[in-house]
Amino acid sequence: MSRLPPLHSFAEIPQPSGALLSELRRATGVEAISISPQDRVAASRDMWPKGILLRRKGLMPRPPDAVLYPKDTEEVSRILRFASERSIPVVPVGGRSGVLGALVPMRPHGLALDTRRLSQIHPPDRERLEVTAGAGAIGLDLERMLRSEGFTLGHAPASISGSTVGGWIATRSAGQHSSRYGKIEDMVVEAECVLGTGEVVRPSRPVPGTDWLEIFAGSEGSLAVITEATFRIWPAPEIAIGSAWRFPDLEHGVQALREIFQAGYRPSVARLYDPLDSLLALWPSGESEVPTPPPGMRELQPREARPAPLRMLWNLALRQPGILNRLAGVRRSVLLVLLHEGERWEAEAEARAVAEVCARCEGRDLGEGPAQRWLRRRWDVSRNFPLVFELGGWVDTLEVAIGWSGVLRLYQAVRQAVSPHAFCMAHLSHAYPDGCSIYFTFLGAAEDVDLGIEQYDATWAAALAAARKEGATISHHHGVGLQKAEALAEELGEKGVEVLRALLRACDPVGVLSPEKWKT
Ligand SMILES: Cc1cc2nc3c(=O)[nH]c(=O)nc-3n(C[C@H](O)[C@H](O)[C@H](O)COP(=O)(O)OP(=O)(O)OC[C@H]3O[C@@H](n4cnc5c(N)ncnc54)[C@H](O)[C@@H]3O)c2cc1C
Repeated sequence: MSRLPPLHSFAEIPQPSGALLSELRRATGVEAISISPQDRVAASRDMWPKGILLRRKGLMPRPPDAVLYPKDTEEVSRILRFASERSIPVVPVGGRSGVLGALVPMRPHGLALDTRRLSQIHPPDRERLEVTAGAGAIGLDLERMLRSEGFTLGHAPASISGSTVGGWIATRSAGQHSSRYGKIEDMVVEAECVLGTGEVVRPSRPVPGTDWLEIFAGSEGSLAVITEATFRIWPAPEIAIGSAWRFPDLEHGVQALREIFQAGYRPSVARLYDPLDSLLALWPSGESEVPTPPPGMRELQPREARPAPLRMLWNLALRQPGILNRLAGVRRSVLLVLLHEGERWEAEAEARAVAEVCARCEGRDLGEGPAQRWLRRRWDVSRNFPLVFELGGWVDTLEVAIGWSGVLRLYQAVRQAVSPHAFCMAHLSHAYPDGCSIYFTFLGAAEDVDLGIEQYDATWAAALAAARKEGATISHHHGVGLQKAEALAEELGEKGVEVLRALLRACDPVGVLSPEKWKT
């Protein structure tokens, strides 16, 4: 079950007095502060599907009393010093594209610290091959600037147009090309962080002894506010060659994926779809642009209800998803989509070598078509998800990771566990020599919201229990948030929790940063 603070209706949300505004301005020196209900509510919600379901019932957590938009590190530092002196909770807010409820304030009368004004992007350092950006910079702006200079960061999460550099680090984000370029924590070489006390630290790499930059990766606003970061960059690839293979079943597909990565090849994209996801991945489609919503990914919010017969059909089918899951289980063949990037000679050589591995694993060459299709449709997730809510349903995703010997067992165990509760499909991506991530998509019915929430909670409980039992990590790149807070403590174990507590005390002795989210 996810952790949740008390919930209220919008009408119950009290409006703070104007005196708070002047006091905050005087004490912190920050000019840009909002106490408008819209800004406060917006700052307390991300793209957590459970939050969307709760809002359908007219319920929401109590928002912060004010949203502060600091313009530089000095202002961030003053906010946190002030908050520490008064024990006022502060939640750092990036693009609000997180999917696990990490922005939900656990304590009332807190502040939201929105990083959107910390968005400066510096020109790339051509000699060091590095780039520095403010934590509030939107990913797409950074990548566009780099491309115009002939470089790439190599980080393209599907949320690139609505997520921030600081949010990426705070959640350990992984982009679609992670197999070649790594996850965000592999790319960052320096981060400017303001601790809960207001002190500014700048951990950097390489470092002798313990790498303390690493502790801020995945810290989800609980240890520090990240204000700026420097990343390693790469020359933009000369070419990207797509390829695709059909395997008789998931076992053969997993064998091919493992052999590719263990042989040392690094296709920038390697996505192995399970039988059902393969069908969707091959569905005919048109062109799709990268969505460019303003920060906050408003596009993901459901807008209007779809026609009643469609909603009825969806809810009828997904109320008892066991039958659909059994039907889907009849299909066997799976699809592997690959992208080979770099200089032409390098990409072509890799494509040839990988083709040999795939053929040896009984793969059938499907040509470049499915990879081109994937490239055209790769931003669609932010358009497809609202559609499900508009149909009176719910959708969520779970990205777990495990070593190769556990991959097939984990896939079967999670599928089996959630089968009575939600319709389930998956793809394997973000592969490494030692294992890979499995990205499950769960779909359910929510026309009756109470039943929908029940189904949603049962799905998550079953999926996380199965993943833990198989020895998987509960998160590869979405983070922990409220949805996985209990499971985090289980995964860390007693000693791990003790070390985490000590870190929290060292960085934030008063406990003002995102308190009670994980303070187990
Ligand atoms: C449609 C869609 C597609 C997605 N695809 C991907 C994907 O491909 N790969 C992927 O990794 N994720 C993906 N996500 C998840 C999400 O985009 C990432 O978790 C992202 O890194 C969050 O960044 P943000 O700026 O939106 O952070 P927010 O959602 O605003 O915040 C997330 C957490 O980080 C903390 N935080 C934010 N900024 C800071 C800061 N400066 N200092 C300290 N703490 C901070 C917040 O307090 C919160 O705990 C997707 C989400 C959506 C909605």
